[in-house]
This record gives sequence, C-alpha cells and structure tokens, in this order.
Amino acid sequence: MANLNTVVTPRVEVITGPMFCGKTEELIRRVIRYEIAGYNYQAFKPIIDDRYSSDSIASHSGSKLKATCVDCSLEDVLRNLDGNKRVYAFDEIQFFNDEILEFFYDSRFVEDKIILASGLNQDFTGRPFKFKDSNKHMGDLLASADEITHLNSICTYISEKNICGAPATKTQRLINGIPASIDDDLVLVGGDDSYEARCNVHHFVRYG
Ligand SMILES: [Zn+2]
Repeated sequence: MANLNTVVTPRVEVITGPMFCGKTEELIRRVIRYEIAGYNYQAFKPIIDDRYSSDSIASHSGSKLKATCVDCSLEDVLRNLDGNKRVYAFDEIQFFNDEILEFFYDSRFVEDKIILASGLNQDFTGRPFKFKDSNKHMGDLLASADEITHLNSICTYISEKNICGAPATKTQRLINGIPASIDDDLVLVGGDDSYEARCNVHHFVRYG
C-alpha cells in the first residue's frame, strides 16, 4: 500500500437541519472517516461560536475535531488556509459572511479537494437562515452542493406530561420561557434565550 496516490473527486457535502439533530456530530464523523482513509484535513469554526471549546469543533455528545478559529470572513479563512490539505470542513457555516459561498462555488474546479459544511438551514422563524448581514441564505449553499444530508431532531414539546416525539425540523426559540417574536433580533443581548427542537405542529412564532 506504500506510495499510492489517493485520487479525490472534488465535491461539496453539506449537512443541515435544526438544532440538536447531530449536524456537528455527523461532520466530525465524516472528517474522521476521510482521515482514516489517509486524507488530511483542516477544519474551521467561526469565533462567534465559543461553546464547549475554543480550538476545536465539539459536538453535544463530546466528540471533537481540532479546528482553526476564524472570524466570519472569507479573507480570514484564506489567510489561515493550508493549501496542502485534501479535506476542508466548516462548522456553523450559517454564521459566516455570504462571501464564503464563493469558496464553495469555486472549490469544484480545484482538484483533490473535498469541502464539508454543517449548519442550520432555517432560523427560529422557519425561514432560510441568512448569512451575516446579507440576503443570501443557506439555500444558496444547499442549491450548489453535490450532496445534502438533511437531519431531523426529536420534538421535545411537552403536553400533559407527554413528550411529542415526532420528527422535528424546526428550532423553537424561547425568550424567558415564551416563544420569541418574529421581530426579535437573531442575537439577543440579555434575557434568557433558549432553544428546543420542535415539529411543525409545536413550532411557535409570535407575531407582534
Ligand atoms: Zn411536536
């Protein structure tokens, strides 16, 4: 098996769904799978997300991937990019600037590169998640992907001591325990902001 060259067909794989569906877990699994096959990798995460760990991508279940922290710009990604890697992985891609789309659009013309990303497809209102300060959204990334993995969560709405348990495709946002308003900013300063996975029946957004 010595001195064999691995040939990589360039491709873009996107893993998406609501919160708590295991997107990051799946991203980590795929990167490790490629690594076992001998493909080196570089993973990126936006600095905005400092949950759990600073220099690694971590899933809710505890698996980890060493990651380069970047601000949300393409410029910072390119500044930190190691061009010798075969696999590039991005966690929380929805938090980047929309210019990151160009990286994905162009990557298909680069030999021997596999680009992976995981991110929310919808915001808390159920609309396509917009990139930072942009009208472009996750749909623009998904439409260009070679492979999309759409994961579901489990609805955790409780009614008369029963948990719903239906497949959940929505992220319920609660502020101080009540459904957020469509007018609330995506990033809340102060207040108790929490999220739950919900099915369509139990996903609530306040209007006004
Ligand atoms: Zn439900």
